[in-house]
Amino acid sequence: MIQLKEKSIYITGGASGIGKAVTEAFIEEGAVVTILDKSVEGLNQLKKRFGEAVQCIEGDVTVYNDHVRAVSAATETFGKLDVFVANAGVFDGFAKFKDVTPDAMSAAYDLLFDINVKGYFNGAKATVNELERTGGNMIFTVSSAGFYPDGGGVWYTASKHAQIGLMRQLAFEFAPDVRVNAVAPGGTLTALHVIPPLQPFVKSVDNETKEKSIKTRNPLQIAMTSEDHVAAYLLLASNNSRAITGEVISSDGGLSVRGLG
Ligand code: NAD
Repeated sequence: MIQLKEKSIYITGGASGIGKAVTEAFIEEGAVVTILDKSVEGLNQLKKRFGEAVQCIEGDVTVYNDHVRAVSAATETFGKLDVFVANAGVFDGFAKFKDVTPDAMSAAYDLLFDINVKGYFNGAKATVNELERTGGNMIFTVSSAGFYPDGGGVWYTASKHAQIGLMRQLAFEFAPDVRVNAVAPGGTLTALHVIPPLQPFVKSVDNETKEKSIKTRNPLQIAMTSEDHVAAYLLLASNNSRAITGEVISSDGGLSVRGLG
């Protein structure tokens, strides 16, 4: 059903976690993928595994020109760009607003919004012309924190709401040429990084505790892994979803039906 053969896809944060699982699935379905990521080690591993199907660009999503470099590399090597996946992100570790000093609050705001929000603005701006040429689409990794409190602290929650606002406005502005949608994973077992300004204010949680907490909070009682979300990306990236824009697919074990109990 899902056909990605010969699609050229650009993803940020594809060297780890959800982005890595999505990259692997895209390649397995026949796409070629350009990745922008800070992690040289993660990029090298993917290059070793997938060879010419993947193109790795070391860089920072907060730097507009790094996206321009990645888009140029995608079009030069693969001839075109069909899909952009904005995915690289960082976390606030559930830091409590009242506990954080004003200086740390401000530094955390600048850093987290620069990556989670401006990083998505940058990527959308750098890709829209190429996507217009191919009638392509964008997919944003948002989060259940884009809908509900307690999927993070205020920094992360506000950034995820902002990503959904950006996605919906761009879907409106880019129609009928480019579709823009989102996937909202629930808590997932990855290495999602807590930003340095907030580290003194958060407790580190071991994987076992994290797994238990994720499992008990969603009705399907799944301790989600990155692979649990790839089906939503495959659908949105493909032409099978040509009638879908401005939508969020929640992949969160059913958080919206938790009920009042
Ligand atoms: P991860 O840390 O495994 O992957 C994030 C990737 O982004 C890493 O490869 C990292 O090097 C890269 N990255 C971070 N900052 C960057 C920057 N400034 N420039 C370039 N690359 C950068 O984490 P993940 O959980 O896979 O996170 C991916 C996305 O999924 C994020 O948007 C996150 O908010 C979202 N998400 C995660 C969860 C979860 O519970 N893990 C839940 C919902 C949504």
